[in-house]
Amino acid sequence: MLDIQKNINLAKYSTFKIGGPAKEFVEVKNEKDLEKALEYARNNKINFFILGGGSNVIFDDEGFKGLIIKLGSGGNGINKVSSFETEEIFKESEFLYFDIWAGEKLSAAVNFSKENDLTGLEWAVSIPGTIGGAVRGNCGAFGGSISDIISEVRILDEADGSILKIISNSECNFSYRSSIFKDNPDLIVISARIKLKRGDKDEIGNKIEKILKERAKKQPNSWIGNAGSFFMNPIIEDEKVKELFEKETGSKIINNRIPAGWLIEEVGLRGKKIGNIMISDINANFLINTGGATAKEVIIATSIIKQKVRTEFGIQLKEEIKLVFNN
Ligand SMILES: Cc1cc2nc3c(=O)[nH]c(=O)nc-3n(C[C@H](O)[C@H](O)[C@H](O)COP(=O)(O)OP(=O)(O)OC[C@H]3O[C@@H](n4cnc5c(N)ncnc54)[C@H](O)[C@@H]3O)c2cc1C
Repeated sequence: MLDIQKNINLAKYSTFKIGGPAKEFVEVKNEKDLEKALEYARNNKINFFILGGGSNVIFDDEGFKGLIIKLGSGGNGINKVSSFETEEIFKESEFLYFDIWAGEKLSAAVNFSKENDLTGLEWAVSIPGTIGGAVRGNCGAFGGSISDIISEVRILDEADGSILKIISNSECNFSYRSSIFKDNPDLIVISARIKLKRGDKDEIGNKIEKILKERAKKQPNSWIGNAGSFFMNPIIEDEKVKELFEKETGSKIINNRIPAGWLIEEVGLRGKKIGNIMISDINANFLINTGGATAKEVIIATSIIKQKVRTEFGIQLKEEIKLVFNN
């Protein structure tokens, strides 16, 4: 029996701590309950929105006039795939596989990998959010991304009824912070099969420690209201801007993308406050809810940022985060 609740405050379910009430809200912790929740929405002709860890969304101040289906941790959402049992024939070049429920935290996958001496997921340490959200946004950091370690994804296609499909990594159309799921909200990630290689325990531990230290230097603390990087790093064509970036930072442009945070800093907005929103003075691509911020204030702040960057650099910034607005 699904526990469908009414008028649930969504600010509680977003790391940005912004948003009004959901008309209806249900938390599901396994595939069966997810199917039931989707069936409920279908039968009652209600709009639904799939929510993971809420670390990449902004909810409307008016809330959501439909059903929020939150995918929560199932407690036992990780299953080793047979390669674990046949390890005597394991060779260094081979992958080990595990299946993980979309509602499990990315950090649960990192911990599991660490405990089982698997390498390839260290970059994800301390990124809030679930596997489903990570697959949808092709989450990544420190040169790694979810697309590097996904073997296949089990999905429900809600476009025409509810159809179960298993799609391969290449069918996910992964690209920088994007995937087939981003363009098709009818495709819901149920679970992912992750492939990693056997690694050295100490090396894995050291890599994780190093990344944690780097994060602490480069990003605001995750317990302060924010939703991670607000804008995607844009592709940069202008050689003069590239030169300026490389001269000022001593860093090289990677994959022709320039950090959005640097652009925002260059237009003088780092550390500025707009209502209850502060543009982080640690990383200007992070917007901080200093207390009581509203979605309206976020929209005002982002309009100012976009306009300044467009005027000074001719670059149009695009949101990485998902705005969940009713209209
Ligand atoms: C402090 C902080 C640091 C961060 N650092 C990084 C970083 O280094 N790299 C990075 O890439 N991101 C980072 N993020 C952003 C965020 O954590 C990731 O994008 C994460 O993958 C989002 O997952 P989620 O479960 O929270 O998604 P949510 O915010 O719940 O949802 C985001 C979108 O994904 C969709 N979605 C969620 N679950 C599913 C599913 N099962 N099937 C289909 N669609 C689904 C939702 O409908 C929504 O459109 C950071 C965020 C914070 C707050």
